[in-house]
Amino acid sequence: MTATTEQLAGLADRAGPELEGATAEEIVRWAADLFGSRFCVTSSFADGVLAHLASRVAPGTDVVFLDTGLHFPETLRVREQVAATLPVRVRSVRPGLTVGQQDGEYGPRLFSRAPDECCALRKVEPLERALADYDAWAAGLRRDESPTRSGTPVVHFEASRGKVKVNPIATWTQADVDAYVSRWNIPVNPLLSRGYGSVGCWPCTRRVKAGEDHRAGRWPLFDKTECGLHA
Ligand code: SF4
Repeated sequence: MTATTEQLAGLADRAGPELEGATAEEIVRWAADLFGSRFCVTSSFADGVLAHLASRVAPGTDVVFLDTGLHFPETLRVREQVAATLPVRVRSVRPGLTVGQQDGEYGPRLFSRAPDECCALRKVEPLERALADYDAWAAGLRRDESPTRSGTPVVHFEASRGKVKVNPIATWTQADVDAYVSRWNIPVNPLLSRGYGSVGCWPCTRRVKAGEDHRAGRWPLFDKTECGLHA
C-alpha cells in the first residue's frame, strides 16, 4: 500500500491499543499484511528471534542490520547463520564512512569521546537511509530490558520519521525469549551466556554485574542508554 503520513499515523494510533494483547506473530502478521514489501524488521543479532518470527509469518521479509564496522565477531556470525538458514533477506547497511575514514575526519576513537556523534554517524544515519524504503519497521525492544524501555508500545507512529514502528515482542520477558529460542532452536549470540546482558558495538559494551538491568553494560562510561535509533 502507499499511504500518506496522516494515514500511517492513523493506522498506528488505532493498532497500538488494538494489538496490545496480541501475540508477536499476530503483530508481525498485521504489519506484513498491511505494508507488504514496505515493512522490514531490524536486528542487532543478539539473537535470531525477530528474524525467525518474520520468516514464519512472512517469508522473504527484509531484515535490516546496521553494520557499524565495530561489531563483535560473534554478532556477525549470528547474522551469517540467520542469512544462511532462514527465508529472509538480510540487508547489511553500512555507514557513509569506514572506521578508518571516520578516524581521519573526526579523530580516532570517537566512541570514547562523543558516543552520540559516533552513533549518529554509524547507526542513526544508516538506519534513516535504509528506512526510506519502508513505511513500517519492527524492532526487538522489550519492556523488561531496562527502565527506559518499560513503556514500549507494540505499535506506534514515529512522528520524527513518519514511520510506523512495530515492537512485536515488547511484552515478552527474558523467559519468553528463552522459551522461543529453545522451541525453535534459534541462533543466539554466545556473548549473552558470557555475562553480556545486551550486545552492541564492542567498544561500548561490557559485561553486566549481578542485579544490573540487561542494558547496564552499554556505554558504561557515559550517561547514555540508547543509540538514538528508537524514538
Ligand atoms: S555503539 Fe559505540 S561504537 Fe557503536 S556507533 Fe555507537 S558510539 Fe559508535
